[in-house]
Amino acid sequence: MKIGCHLSSAGGYLAMAQTAVSIGANVFQFFTRNPRGGAAKPIDKADVKAFAEFASENGIGPILAHAPYTLNAASSDPRIRDFAMSVFVDDLNRLEHTPGALYNFHPGSHVGQGAETGIALISDLLLKVFDSVEKRKGGAVATTVLLETMSGKGSEVGRNFEEVRAVIDRVGRDDVGVCLDTCHVWDGGYDIVNDLDGVLDRFDSVIGLGRLKAIHLNDSMNVLAAHKDRHEKIGKGKIGLDALARVINHPKLRNLPFYLETPCDLQGYKEEIALLKGLWK
Ligand code: FE
Ligand code: FE
Ligand code: ZN
Repeated sequence: MKIGCHLSSAGGYLAMAQTAVSIGANVFQFFTRNPRGGAAKPIDKADVKAFAEFASENGIGPILAHAPYTLNAASSDPRIRDFAMSVFVDDLNRLEHTPGALYNFHPGSHVGQGAETGIALISDLLLKVFDSVEKRKGGAVATTVLLETMSGKGSEVGRNFEEVRAVIDRVGRDDVGVCLDTCHVWDGGYDIVNDLDGVLDRFDSVIGLGRLKAIHLNDSMNVLAAHKDRHEKIGKGKIGLDALARVINHPKLRNLPFYLETPCDLQGYKEEIALLKGLWK
């Protein structure tokens, strides 16, 4: 089973991988920089090299880099979109040092312009990002970019599978995927508790399960379709342990990497990972 959690990137890649092993994880997620934006630390080549060795010895990966959640590719303000573009390009350029990584981002908020405009802005920005990174490199980007499914709070784009699909269609690349967040889809109105098969069939017909590359495994503080996005510890929320156990064991999901983003400290994550590994058949 591939399971891990969100970790602090303060100590660098090797430190994250060592922390992951110490809590029983074999994958992990991290913010590429301060989640509110700001400059990223320069890549430490020695750290990246030590990480690569450690990761292959310990079977770690894929690692999932999470873009700052303030990044808004769908903003009506061109300066905010330019900022999103420069962060995105910089992050993908940096991730070239750790090939095979996943890069997850929140599609954005259309801030009243309407989902269709938001979808067009996000797709255009993605195309420019890929163009910039691949021109600089002279080859295909080494990272798989994932759109995260959102709960639909405020004017979030990606609040249903159709909106995610619309971005993917406009970008038109085989290497753009999706990260399904169990808390977000539940809050977004997809009943993964009573009808997981139906939700996955819907995902498959709208987006295609081949696009699904990662799961954010979270419980939710809120009821179905609350459109709130408040993560809860595994088994302590409205989704519950039985439903999350069905998620990790589902034949269409069980081999995907699962990343916990629950409100836990390291000890709490260690316990959740042990619990879930015990439930994975
Ligand atoms: Fe996220
Ligand atoms: Fe998430
Ligand atoms: Zn969330």
